Order: sequence, then C-alpha cells, then structure tokens
Amino acid sequence: MNRRDFIKLSLQVLIASSLSSAARAVSVSPKNTQTGVDVIIIGAGISGISAAVMLKSKGYRVLILEARNRIGGRIWTDNTLNVPLDLGASWIHGVTNNPIKQLADKFNLKTVPTDYDARQIYQANGTLLTEEDVTDLTDRYDGVYGRIIAIQKKRRSGNLPDISWQAALEQELVNEKFTPAELTELYYSLNTELEHEYAADLSQLSLLNSDVEENAFEGGDHLFLKGYGQIIEQLVQSATLSSDILINQIVKSVDYSKTTSIKVTTNQAVFQARAVLVTLPLGVLKANTVKFSPPLPITKQNSIKKLGFGVLNKTYLRFPEYFWEDQDAESQLVNSISTIKGHFAEWLNLYFYTKQPILLGFNAAKHGKEIEGMSDKAIIAEWMQTLRAIYGNDIPEPDSYLITRWNKDPYALGSYSYVGVGASAKDYQELAKSVNNQLFFAGEATSFDHPATVHGAFLSGEREAKKIIAAIPVTGK
Ligand SMILES: Cc1cc2nc3c(=O)[nH]c(=O)nc-3n(C[C@H](O)[C@H](O)[C@H](O)COP(=O)(O)OP(=O)(O)OC[C@H]3O[C@@H](n4cnc5c(N)ncnc54)[C@H](O)[C@@H]3O)c2cc1C
Repeated sequence: MNRRDFIKLSLQVLIASSLSSAARAVSVSPKNTQTGVDVIIIGAGISGISAAVMLKSKGYRVLILEARNRIGGRIWTDNTLNVPLDLGASWIHGVTNNPIKQLADKFNLKTVPTDYDARQIYQANGTLLTEEDVTDLTDRYDGVYGRIIAIQKKRRSGNLPDISWQAALEQELVNEKFTPAELTELYYSLNTELEHEYAADLSQLSLLNSDVEENAFEGGDHLFLKGYGQIIEQLVQSATLSSDILINQIVKSVDYSKTTSIKVTTNQAVFQARAVLVTLPLGVLKANTVKFSPPLPITKQNSIKKLGFGVLNKTYLRFPEYFWEDQDAESQLVNSISTIKGHFAEWLNLYFYTKQPILLGFNAAKHGKEIEGMSDKAIIAEWMQTLRAIYGNDIPEPDSYLITRWNKDPYALGSYSYVGVGASAKDYQELAKSVNNQLFFAGEATSFDHPATVHGAFLSGEREAKKIIAAIPVTGK
C-alpha cells in the first residue's frame, strides 16, 4: 500500500513563518474596489500557486488572496526548533512521474526515501515484537484485509448499498476466533495502515469507494530533508509571484451574480476580476464561512456535504539527547500497540534522517480530533507514558515541542479529504466543476485521481488554469 501516514504551539509561539516574506501584507482601503486583474485566486496553498504560475506564464494578471499571515496552506515548514519541520504535508507519495518530485529535482531540493518496513513494533508494555511476531501480526492483518476486500467486491458486484469499513470488519470478525490480544493488534494495524492514511475512522470510511487513488504514483515515498515549504518558495520565486499575493485577506464572500465580473469581499477590501479560482479547503467549504451569491449549485453543495474531511495531527518532541533505539539501527518508524485503538501508536524517527534527537508522533481520526481538546502538557504526558513503557523511566523530558491542531485551524478545519460512507469519486468531480465559466475550483478535494495529496492539489491548480485559459481571453498588462 502506498502509505500516506503520516504545531503548533511550541514553547515560543510562532507569529509568522518565513514564507510570509514571500508575499505582500499590505493594507488596502476598504472603500475602494480593487480591479485590474484577470483572475483572483482564493488561497495561497499549492493548488492556488500552481494555477497562478501557469496563468502568469500565459500573460494573465493574477491576484492571490490569502487569509493567513503566510503562504503554503497545508504545506507549512516550521523552523522554531532550529530544524526545518513540516507541520502539514511531509511526503511526496510515489516519486515516479510525480510532478512534485520533478519540481524537487528541477529546483535541486534534496529528498530521501522512507522505508516503511524499517520499523520497530512494541507491545504496550514495552516488549519488542520479534520478527516472527511481526510476521504473524502481518499475516493476520493481511488475511482480515483480504476478506474485507472480498466483502467489498461482493457488494460492488451485487450493487448493494455502501457500508463503512467498520461494518464490514464486524461482519468479518463474526467468523474469527481472535484472542483479545490479537484483536488489539488487528486494530493497531487498521489504525496505522488505514486510519492514518485516510485521516478518518473505520466507521466513517466508505467500503465501496474509499480506495479512489487508483492511479497513485509508484516508486515509494520521499521526505524533504529541508522541508516541503521549499517547493512553495521556489515556485513563487521562479514565477516572480510574490507581488501577486496578498496575505491577511480573509475572504468573506464571493458574488458571481454578474456575468461580466465577480466581486470578492475580504476583511479588508473588495476585489473584482473576470474569473475567480476558489481553492478553499473542503473543511472551510463545509463550514460555509465564505458566502457565495448566488449559492453554489445544489449538486456541488451535496458533494461538499458527502465527502469527509479528516484529521491527522503531528507532535514533534525534541529531546536533549538521542536515547531511542540503537544509534546504528536503521529503524525509521517506531510503533506501539496501544490497548486503546489509535492512542499514540506511531512515530517517525527523525534522528535517522536528520541526526537530531527529534521524534514525530502521529494521531489520526477520532483520537487525532480528541487530542485537540487536550492541553499541550497532557498530550506530551501521554506520549511520554508510551515512550517510558518502551525505553524506561530514566529517559529525559523533551526540551521543546510542536503540536498541530488542524481541526481547530479556521483556514483548514481539518487535514484532508476522504470518501465517507455514501460518497464516491464522483463527488470529487462535482467539486471540480466550474460554474458559469467564471467560478473555478481547485484544491486536493477536487482531485479525482490523487485526492488528499500535495501532488493532487498541484495538478488540480494546473487543470483549472487550463480551463480558465480556454474560457477567458488574456487581456495582458
Ligand atoms: C498534517 C498533514 C499531513 C499531510 N501529509 C501529507 C503528505 O505527507 N503528503 C501529501 O502529499 N499530502 C499530505 N497532506 C495533504 C496536503 O498537505 C494537502 O493535500 C495540500 O497541501 C492541499 O493543498 P491545497 O492547495 O488544496 O489547500 P491548502 O494548502 O489548504 O490551501 C488553501 C488556502 O486557502 C486559504 N484559505 C482558507 N480560508 C480562506 C479564506 N476565507 N480567505 C482566503 N484564504 C483562505 C488557506 O489558508 C490556505 O492557504 C497532509 C496534510 C496535513 C494537514
């Protein structure tokens, strides 16, 4: 399986990331309507930026309006722990023919492969699983997974209604005689293999349609050694986009009632252009915080409701010294089979890649959401409890940390999309449809082929730029 497993409140609070310097933070007079561009792009994430790069190269005048005080959206590299650490996306999923890998190569950005098999798995009591234990666990998981896929095939061929992965699992478990310990291990595997990948609970995931990424790129996953943010910086620099981006512009409404121009109102001003590209995250579209007039077509509204928007959160713990695993060992991931599904089950050994004493823990789906209600101290205490069970009570406390809370982030309201029960790839296509050849939509949740990924978002920006170029003649400067 192409794994996609995988803020912030550090001891110091980050005010502005280095990426904000790549954009203008100007105050615009609220009284004046700002005109003079062909296309307004709402959102300076990778999809908005990729669209802007293509449109600008064809002579279009673009303006990107970004709510945050930085660009990059769900790509966010933080440097406050003196190492570039990604709070949003980390991996290029499938490097072969992946446009993000091609960009990384073009810009000479170093990426390193992740070997998901280079993993140590521990029982909750701290006992390391032997190779034989791991084989048994994997065989049991593969068996159950295969039988669930058989249920999926049967339901598909019989045109039966969708059910959740959890419901299918429960059907399958009726015929199994697992011990309680085996069941805990099975849930650990399902959590780290599926719930981390989709950022959703098994009970939320569509059995029939959640495996939409049939055209996933091959070639294994790579990390950016100096952070994903480099891709954003390089794209902005290479297309000299920085003067076309306004930050701290929270879009409040989009009025496309006139065919000649669209009016976009932000917290600061009113802007007008012939076309608007909306790249708002699905979480923001679901929350209806940006008003469209007339309202978006009902079919699009239904798809916005049907698709899910899941949660994956990260915790970086920086320790005064390296203490985990053998220094020469090659383990890249460390896992703990928690007795409560999803509780602090998986972390990435950043020491392996950076030689810095940093661990990156993941919490997804239900538990990923729950931890957002916990204090930083409580989250760290739970991580430390898991680590102490494995490495002993003498390990040091972290000296600094970063904790993300993507579900509470008002400009994301979650991490990335998934196919909920009753939804399908058609909903991604519906989200991608333009309205009146004036209002266009990009972003990961509009990507039918590669949803929930950076490359999917990037390609969606290019797809919409091409549609805009076909629909609207360039006026030039
Ligand atoms: C924790 C986490 C881990 C991930 N890991 C990976 C990974 O390893 N690999 C991978 O490929 N993908 C990963 N992803 C998914 C990936 O980050 C996204 O799919 C991709 O970055 C989305 O880009 P986008 O342009 O669609 O949206 P965004 O990057 O969210 O851009 C949308 C922009 O709109 C702005 N905005 C929101 N509301 C308003 C408003 N009212 N007015 C103006 N602007 C607004 C936002 O601030 C944002 O900048 C991860 C995501 C998260 C959160």
